[in-house]
Amino acid sequence: MTRRRTMRYTVTVGAVALGVCLFGYLGWETTVPSANAAGGVVSERTGTAPDRYVYYPGTEELGAEEIRLIALGTGMPAARRGQAATCWLVELGNGDKFLFDIGTGANANLSALMIPFDFTKKVFLTHLHTDHWGDLPGLWAGGWTSGRTAPLEIWGPSGATKEMGTAYAVEHFLKAYNWDRMTRLANLASAPGKITVHEFDYTAENEIVYQENGVTIRSFPAIHAGDGAVSFALEWKGMKLVIGGDSMPNTWYRKYATNADVAIHEAFMTPELLVEFYNQSPTTALGVGTYVHTAPQAFGKIMSEVKPKLAIAYHFFNEAGTHDIMLEAIRETYDGPLSLAEDMLVWNITKDGITERTAVSPEDAWGVKGPNPPPDPDRTVPDQLSEEMLAGRWDVSEVMAEMIQEFKAKHGLQ
Ligand SMILES: [Zn+2]
Ligand SMILES: [Zn+2]
Repeated sequence: MTRRRTMRYTVTVGAVALGVCLFGYLGWETTVPSANAAGGVVSERTGTAPDRYVYYPGTEELGAEEIRLIALGTGMPAARRGQAATCWLVELGNGDKFLFDIGTGANANLSALMIPFDFTKKVFLTHLHTDHWGDLPGLWAGGWTSGRTAPLEIWGPSGATKEMGTAYAVEHFLKAYNWDRMTRLANLASAPGKITVHEFDYTAENEIVYQENGVTIRSFPAIHAGDGAVSFALEWKGMKLVIGGDSMPNTWYRKYATNADVAIHEAFMTPELLVEFYNQSPTTALGVGTYVHTAPQAFGKIMSEVKPKLAIAYHFFNEAGTHDIMLEAIRETYDGPLSLAEDMLVWNITKDGITERTAVSPEDAWGVKGPNPPPDPDRTVPDQLSEEMLAGRWDVSEVMAEMIQEFKAKHGLQ
């Protein structure tokens, strides 16, 4: 938790007289004095600062009944460097990891967590807008080239017609990226370039779409822009996380998110903010902000009925210029525990409570090796370079000869 962020919470939440309740709930002691904002008190010269406000990726083993939820994208389709589009990572104490949506720009945030690509193979899509799956290319080809050993697996809804469903989308995604796929197949292992699709009925109401290793994931419809959008509920060890896909307020969410430990739902920018900052016309902004999506006052109404242990609002550019406007709009209708999401916020969830921290992660993270050795190429397609192109090759092998010889000797290659 940065000093700036802590201070902001102190001011805004204090202003609505909820400081004690919210901070108490999230494990902070009432309001946080500024002197403590960086993380408690350092009482000796050689002492260390408590790190309760921050999460350092890769350094914390989860408890056997603990969930870690990380926001990897919380913004808008016109993703920006400071805020990618929708993506949530759910990590469970049993080692399972699930991605919910992989929106534009989110893969860089995922990389900053330094998790081997073999552990982030399972992706659940709420719907097929680019801000919810636009970084599939990054996850697909990034993992393919950097150590993933097996296919990606995608769970996603059907559509009103076959052409509007997830299976069609992924099939044609691979066709659109055919040049990428064929040229990699000629040089890499083929398995990690595959995508397995599990398409399920978008009208299914609270039906199980995934059940393995004690984890149950259910789907129920969302109402958003066109048929074929859904929300998910993940249940594990008696805890429940609900990941709301884009939607206008709907009765299914009210029913199936009730009493969830964490209820994530969009809270779209107000029409005025859409006009002022997001370059929409007033007519567009009103339609998008109150019909296609959920306005912050409506988000508050939903959460006041659902009463989760923690409500998380996302799908708006969260910054100094919008934060208080969104908070005040939500507080018109909801006074319970609330997080306004931004990228790299981290929540640890147990039956005893929920804590919120900020991930402190490197700009320049490398892919991390997993337990499976990186696979060799199996060259399931021939070299995609023709004789005509290779005829233009300038042979400079002489300058690489020594390096290649040393490399082969070191790695036992012929
Ligand atoms: Zn959408
Ligand atoms: Zn969206």
